Amino acid sequence: MLDTNLTIRCPWCNKSSTLGAWDTVTFGKCYTREMKRAFRSLTKEGTWLKNSNKYFMCPDCNRWLKASQLILVTDDNALKKFGGEPVIISAFSGNKRVDTDESGDIPVGSLSNSQKDNTKSEDN
Ligand SMILES: [Zn+2]
Repeated sequence: MLDTNLTIRCPWCNKSSTLGAWDTVTFGKCYTREMKRAFRSLTKEGTWLKNSNKYFMCPDCNRWLKASQLILVTDDNALKKFGGEPVIISAFSGNKRVDTDESGDIPVGSLSNSQKDNTKSEDN
């Protein structure tokens, strides 16, 4: 059983709220009886499992996250196993990311989809 006063940080907006606040906001989004029945509190350890498929809404930015992706801010080693699953933010941030090394190989995924590079010369 986890305490409702524990602090949970949102990987999206980096703001912290209490576990109780996450529970309350999320339960408030359960409009139907089915949703209410499916709701499981973050105080229950099983909710944090990767395969629990429980989603929670951040009280600050109102974005949804899997319970396993929430960041539990704690000094208690017994609690550090909960949450912290990485959120793949790069998938949402367009094509900013170009990883290449000295070899000059084509950066992964950046050129193959378009021919635009022929019209734009880089040697000004
Ligand atoms: Zn947030």
